[in-house]
Amino acid sequence: ATFAEIDLGAALNDNIRRCRYVRPTPVQRHAIPISLAGRDLMACAQTGSGKTAAFCFPIISGIMRGPPAGRPQRGGGMGMRTAYPSALILSPTRELSMQIHEEARKFSYQTGVRVVVAYGGAPITQQLRDLERGVDILVATPGRLVDLLERARVSLQSIRYLALDEADRMLDMGFEPQVRRIVQQMDMPPPGVRQTMLFSATFPKEIQRMASDFLENYIFLAV
Ligand code: AMP
Repeated sequence: ATFAEIDLGAALNDNIRRCRYVRPTPVQRHAIPISLAGRDLMACAQTGSGKTAAFCFPIISGIMRGPPAGRPQRGGGMGMRTAYPSALILSPTRELSMQIHEEARKFSYQTGVRVVVAYGGAPITQQLRDLERGVDILVATPGRLVDLLERARVSLQSIRYLALDEADRMLDMGFEPQVRRIVQQMDMPPPGVRQTMLFSATFPKEIQRMASDFLENYIFLAV
């Protein structure tokens, strides 16, 4: 099959063609239909496998077709606003977050889907300004996101899509407490409301435990 045969929404299909993606990679071929069907997913996939598009395409497609997103609302006082993203992509490092953000923006071109990135080790000011303009997909590192949650600048109550990228690396870097805190902030939704995708290069006990804690009736994919 080719991407032209997968209906992801006209604007997204156009962007995929512009990026010269013709055929899905193996992880994309399997993960995209699973996600479009609304199922949770645990995918063992390496860097270079095309996993970024595997989680970005269903998220962008779903947001394009879903109900209109919430606008930023007054939250933290002093005229500050709280952003209510529909999707969260968690990644272990600043570099990986920047890469995901860049790809997600290309794929979101003219779809109306807004992508914002927030990572540590950089001033928070610009990130706060970006969030105030509105965000559908937030790409973030765990530490910076906890900071934004504590400042009430982001709420996770509207999250419908959660992707954890390179989950094993997040654990290796000691982010498990932050990741668990973040996931706990999302209201336990009725089944089928929030969709979670967990990507990891390896599948040790710790990741198996995360999968059983975070995922609902999930499909396991190893490519
Ligand atoms: P990733 O594993 O997501 O980091 O992707 C690895 C590289 O493959 C990136 O440079 C992508 O732009 C590229 N890529 C991903 N999927 C496809 C595809 N279906 N066709 C061509 N290139 C792709």
